[in-house]
Amino acid sequence: MKRILVTGALGQIGSELVQQLRNTYGADNVVASDIRAKSGQEAQIGPFEVLDVTDGKRMAQVVKQYNADAIIHLAALLSSTAETKPQLAWNLNMGGLVNALEVSRELGCQLFSPSSIAAFGPDTPRIFTPQDTIQRPTSMYGVTKVAGELLCDYYYQKFGVDTRGLRFPGLISYVAPPGGGTTDYAVEIYYEAVRNGRYTSYIAPGTFMDMMYMPDALDAVVNLMEADASRLKHRNAFNISAMSFAPEQIAHAIQQHIPDFRMDYEVDPVRQSIADSWPDSIDSSQAAEEWGFKAKYDLERTTKDMLSKLRSKLHVGQQS
Ligand code: NAD
Repeated sequence: MKRILVTGALGQIGSELVQQLRNTYGADNVVASDIRAKSGQEAQIGPFEVLDVTDGKRMAQVVKQYNADAIIHLAALLSSTAETKPQLAWNLNMGGLVNALEVSRELGCQLFSPSSIAAFGPDTPRIFTPQDTIQRPTSMYGVTKVAGELLCDYYYQKFGVDTRGLRFPGLISYVAPPGGGTTDYAVEIYYEAVRNGRYTSYIAPGTFMDMMYMPDALDAVVNLMEADASRLKHRNAFNISAMSFAPEQIAHAIQQHIPDFRMDYEVDPVRQSIADSWPDSIDSSQAAEEWGFKAKYDLERTTKDMLSKLRSKLHVGQQS
């Protein structure tokens, strides 16, 4: 990658990935774009374009204008929002991806497209879910993710487009808020712990899901995009995970720093049923073997860092 276009760049991942890419590749070589205009605070940092990914002509125009050789395609509707607007989710998630693939084919770009643990379903083996396994998701978000994985494989096989992708687990971060996913509780809990010392979880106790702290996710994107292509057998949709926990375990980790922290439960049936259809823990060994994936942050390290970063962000005093 030398000159990179990032779509959906104002979201949870893009807000941090753009910064990391600019540090590595140079501010002028990373073009952030989103359907929303950016705020004044982000104004001077580097190039930005308003780009609706369902407009393929405009996407091609922006790629040509900046002579981009890579597209990191993040614009999508996430799992719980997608479940309330399934038609929009299909149109955005598939329409945007088809445009990104076509632009990559026509203009010779490398393409990163994220999948998700949502690409699995209730028939998938739940524990240590293999890289290659049954994928019959029951959410619209999951349907778009499986279709996207297949489409990216197809564009590689049929047209030689250098497509690459990861199945992200739930991502934990403090810079931008999460965008309507089922795993958002694992971010909200830290904000509420710091602000109020309490949290009401919409996910039931005993519900295990894979998670990862944002720095590991950002490194994974760059490392996969820069990996030697001849070593990649899967290319798209690599399982990656850093930890798997249930709500009571993250609460326990927070109590090591905020002993009075209390959590109760008010389960949301829509998000709970999505969570119940996903694996408990996935096997990332193929990503480790093919391009050296290794996560640095476990639950304890993530918790320590999240609490400390949020205390300074929210101007709350240190307790531990
Ligand atoms: P997000 O919801 O935080 O951000 C998405 C961004 O896309 C937003 O800034 C939004 O304004 C923008 N957008 C919406 N419609 C658009 C359009 N038509 N054109 C251009 N931009 C548009 O999402 P995120 O968490 O940053 O996720 C990015 C990608 O990673 C998505 O494909 C998502 O499915 C995937 N993913 C995320 C997670 C996670 O935990 N965050 C987990 C698994 C997979």
